[in-house]
Amino acid sequence: STPAVMLSAMAAAARSGVLFKSSAALGALAHVQTVAFDKTGTLTQARMTLTQTVADDQGAALALAAGLERHSEHPIAHAIVRAATERGLTPAAVTDAQALPGLGIVGRLPGGERAWAGNLRLMKQEGAALSLAQDAALRQLGRQGSSSVIVGIGARVSGVMGVADTLRPGIREALERLRSGGVRHPVMLTGDKYEVAQTVAAQVGLSDFHAELRPEDKVRMIGELPGPVAMVGDGVNDAPALARADVGIAVASGTDVAIESADVVLMQSDLGKLGGALRLARDARRTVK
Ligand code: ADP
Ligand code: MG
Repeated sequence: STPAVMLSAMAAAARSGVLFKSSAALGALAHVQTVAFDKTGTLTQARMTLTQTVADDQGAALALAAGLERHSEHPIAHAIVRAATERGLTPAAVTDAQALPGLGIVGRLPGGERAWAGNLRLMKQEGAALSLAQDAALRQLGRQGSSSVIVGIGARVSGVMGVADTLRPGIREALERLRSGGVRHPVMLTGDKYEVAQTVAAQVGLSDFHAELRPEDKVRMIGELPGPVAMVGDGVNDAPALARADVGIAVASGTDVAIESADVVLMQSDLGKLGGALRLARDARRTVK
């Protein structure tokens, strides 16, 4: 049976907003060497706003993107749909929509053409290419730390959009506390582009990051990092990595599948609570031994 000291540590953690689903998760957290963080929705708030649209017909590009993104629950998708609504645009009629985690979304227009919205990898998969101006816009967005969405029909790019996110308040301090609490390797794992990852990593004070990861790449990275590994994430794309990690930690503002795949839930989505939970786990382990 579970030692009383473990139960009381779990109760104390729960009072502080860190919900352990099992005492095994508490035990595993005590030994963690590496904590891997997803970027969007984990280090950032995932309250994204559209900042820029580069297109010959901005309204048409945004209406097309919104028609697709209506069918996605990605934070980027919400920003696109909200921006189109605010501008009074009618989203394009898209059927057969399919969300592709780590890539974007694809669907079909009334005329039967294939439409898509997502990242460079998806664009290439669709056989499309950027113009010089679109490529320059994309690079500039990356340097600013903004994520981007490319939208197109078939092999033609209709537009490039920038979406800006904001860091979670206190995230830099939360990471510092984890490091001083004995976590040797804090690292960011993101599906976003290298330049965006680099900018955000510098802002939160992380020297180690891996970018342009598909969901399956995140899983592989978890296996390659110095263990035991805890993974903190929010998205559908993070769920396999959360399940693979020695301790999967979901933020409560995340998707249901992330929360279901995790061993621990941060109830107020407050990463500042992780340091305290780590201390509780280590103290409990020492007492049990
Ligand atoms: P992160 O690991 O930072 O949380 P994701 O794995 O969720 O990011 O997404 C990786 C990348 O895939 C995003 O940065 C974006 O370029 C693209 N992407 C995923 N879903 C969408 C979507 N619905 N619309 C546009 N782009 C998307
Ligand atoms: Mg995320």
